[in-house]
Formats: sequence, structure tokens, C-alpha cells
Amino acid sequence: MTHNFQKARDRMVETQLIPRGIHDPRVLAAMRKVPRHLFVSEALQSQAYADHPLPIGDKQTISQPYIVALMTEALQLQGTEKVLEIGTGSGYQTAVLAELADTVFSIERLPSLLHRARKTMEQLGYRNVVLRVGDGTVGWPEEAPFDAILVSAGAPQVPQPLVDQLAVGGRLIVPVGDRLSQELVLVERVPEGVRKSHLGGCRFVDLVGKWGWEE
Ligand code: SAH
Repeated sequence: MTHNFQKARDRMVETQLIPRGIHDPRVLAAMRKVPRHLFVSEALQSQAYADHPLPIGDKQTISQPYIVALMTEALQLQGTEKVLEIGTGSGYQTAVLAELADTVFSIERLPSLLHRARKTMEQLGYRNVVLRVGDGTVGWPEEAPFDAILVSAGAPQVPQPLVDQLAVGGRLIVPVGDRLSQELVLVERVPEGVRKSHLGGCRFVDLVGKWGWEE
């Protein structure tokens, strides 16, 4: 069966993102552009634009399109930013960020997933992405500070190193809660300290690491 993936992507934006309030034109354009089906296995490609997460191997998932758009929009990217992402997974969220920022640094703890994500990013020609294997809960101190940080796995708390690696004026979005459900927490670093707000409920796989859950 052949699929018209561009049409499926346009429909995803019109039916899943815009009605739920995603409105940043740059975010919507990136969601229309990035070929999400190339970040999942061939067997799942026909479901790539459906309104739910999908398995990507190693018990991990590619997030629901709406959650990717919501978290990305919260970062208010203009195109000049240095961004850190924790939990590369398939690399789909990484690609969306790469469309909208200057440079994206992304950390994944599972080498097999990172290897596949690297191949996909290369195939698609993303040159402003730097990937590495490691525990992202400690951040990437050598590259700090970051203008924006996005965590795509559920944390028991906001990892303090990530707050410390945020530039003044920078924004961090992270799902925080227990292992079954979390709240999206937006942390903005302001000259006086930090400002926190909540953007709604979500469900992510575990953030595993020093400032996350135990393995
Ligand atoms: N944004 C990804 C979502 C992947 S699921 C996508 O679009 O596909 C979350 C990922 O976070 C998993 O791949 C998991 O292995 C990874 N992860 C969990 N804890 C981590 C940690 N401490 N550091 C880096 N990656 C982590």
C-alpha cells in the first residue's frame, strides 16, 4: 500500500494540533514538514500520523504528535537558540527542534536507539544536531548554558543540573510526576531565580538516571 504522507501530516496538523490550541506558525510548519513516518519501523509507518505514541523498540516510545507540538511551542523558539534535549529516542522531537532552533544537543541513554536516530538524522540531512549517549539528567555541562531544554521522559523531580544549565531568559520543559502519569512543568530562568508553571497532564516513559528514576 502506498501512503500520501504529506497529506497525512497536513491532516494531523489540522485535526490534532490546531483544534487543541497549537498556534505558533513556525511550530505548525515544522510539524507539517518533518517526516515522522521515517522515525518509526516500516511496519508502523501507516500509523505514524495517528493521535498516539508508538513503540520504537527497547520498551521506548515516540511521543504523540500533540505532545511534541505542545512542548516545542512552550519553548518559544525563534531560530537562534542553542537547545538541549534529553531522551533522543527515535530522533523525531530532535528533528522538530532542529527545524526551529540554531543548534540541538541531544542525549540518549540507550546506544541502540541513538545509533538509529543518528542514521535517520543523517539521511534527512540535519547538520545542526549533535547527539551523544549518556545520562541526560546531569545535562551537558561543557555546552551550557542553553536557551532551551526539553526533557522527553518522565521525571520524579525537575533535575537541578538542567535548571543550572539554563541561560537567564531560558526555558525548560519537563514532565514531572510518578511513573504512571506526569504534569508538564515549564521552568523559566529569570534574573531573580526561576518561575514555574504547569501545562497539563501527560504520560511518558521513565527518565532513568542520577536525577531521574532508578533503573
Ligand atoms: N523524543 C523521543 C521520545 C523517546 S522516549 C522521540 O521523539 O522519539 C524517551 C527516551 O528517553 C527513551 O529513548 C529513553 O531511553 C530516554 N531516556 C530515559 N532516561 C534518560 C536519561 N537519563 N538520559 C538520556 N535519555 C534518557
